[in-house]
Amino acid sequence: MDKNNKRRVRVAEDNPSIQRIEARCINCGNCMRICEEVVGINHEMEREDWPICINCGQCVMNCPVGALLTKYDYKKVLNIIHDTDKIVTLSVAPAVRVALGEEFGLSNSNFEGILPSLARALGFDYVFDISFGADITVMEEASELVERLTNKSNLPMFTSCCPSWVKYASIYHPELEKNISTTKSPIGIQSTLIKTYFKEFQSIDKNIISVVVAPCTSKKYEILTGDTDYIITTQELAMMVRESKIDIASLKIGEFDSLLSKGSKAGIMFGRSGGVMESILNYVHYLMTNEVPKMGQYHIEVDEPICSKDFKIGNKIIRCLVIYSMPALEKILPDMSNYDIIEVMNCSGGCVGGGGQPLIPIQKIKETEKSRKEQLTNEDAKVLYCFQNEDVIELYKSYLGKPMNDKAIALLHYNHVDMSHLNKN
Ligand code: SF4
Ligand code: SF4
Repeated sequence: MDKNNKRRVRVAEDNPSIQRIEARCINCGNCMRICEEVVGINHEMEREDWPICINCGQCVMNCPVGALLTKYDYKKVLNIIHDTDKIVTLSVAPAVRVALGEEFGLSNSNFEGILPSLARALGFDYVFDISFGADITVMEEASELVERLTNKSNLPMFTSCCPSWVKYASIYHPELEKNISTTKSPIGIQSTLIKTYFKEFQSIDKNIISVVVAPCTSKKYEILTGDTDYIITTQELAMMVRESKIDIASLKIGEFDSLLSKGSKAGIMFGRSGGVMESILNYVHYLMTNEVPKMGQYHIEVDEPICSKDFKIGNKIIRCLVIYSMPALEKILPDMSNYDIIEVMNCSGGCVGGGGQPLIPIQKIKETEKSRKEQLTNEDAKVLYCFQNEDVIELYKSYLGKPMNDKAIALLHYNHVDMSHLNKN
């Protein structure tokens, strides 16, 4: 029956990101409209076969009756959290803390300081801030770009941290594979380093379960790569808090655990469109000139789905393009050789508009995304750039060596070819 219903998206049983409660569906057609017109999936093209979902969750955000939902994993996390044979860690993505308050009718700034205490009250053994993983992503991805510019190979380089985009490319544009950065996403890097560097440093002999709270349903697809064990969304974290009957008002300001938590301003900016590009260019500037850039020097104001700007770094012009949404991507592909680096995100405004964020009335979506973006942009950090972050410096000095050396490549980079078998649902 589902296969013949052209008004709504198909949701396969084993889709890791979304589910549908059939009894609630009123067959309104919103999900199909969003998926085709905004996300850019051609359902006609895929109709003979099962259409391939890129797990973005935008249909969930736009279903008027709550028939489409995130596929929840938080109960599995609640079941293992008190297992004394395991160490269970929680890593929090920056875009989560600028949205969690919306679930409780509180200001998001209420949650910035108490997130570590909240995670410990839920029973997690360690709690980390993923802006550290984002800093490492910048170290690796900027080094990768400099290498490609030097060798004039595989340009433009596309960013790789949005799994919906990476999946879209591998299904619909496999020819782009060599252009996509091999650097893992901040989440993939954070989980890898928890299970290697952190485990060794703390002499942990138990199995570590890495849980990540993200704004994104697509990250539930990304974990099929094996780095992270569970992804819960911002919505699911709020559900855990409610079901555990934690009194938020009683929580005190807390600190994230050390070693993998201090992120720079660059790491925090990853949550919004243009942030990855800006962070990468800041480090490219340092690598190419040996000087510290001015804050904001490489800012691109992303107020529409396609924004481009050229920057001069040293004596080289770097041609930059920032895109969100796959229809925007399709428009620029014929001219992609005009650019050196292209940041691609699926969701409007980047991760802040991810499909796992708190549900908001459809008419308020734009205004809320703008506010989340501004909160991330204005968030303070003790250090501005990843290469100034003492924890990052220590990681490379004592464990990895240099970005893009054999050890860093083995731990922190993907082979996208090996991910092709994951492109099912
Ligand atoms: S948006 Fe929701 S109610 Fe409308 S067709 Fe899709 S699943 Fe059904
Ligand atoms: S999750 Fe995204 S790609 Fe998948 S059906 Fe929904 S809107 Fe379409």
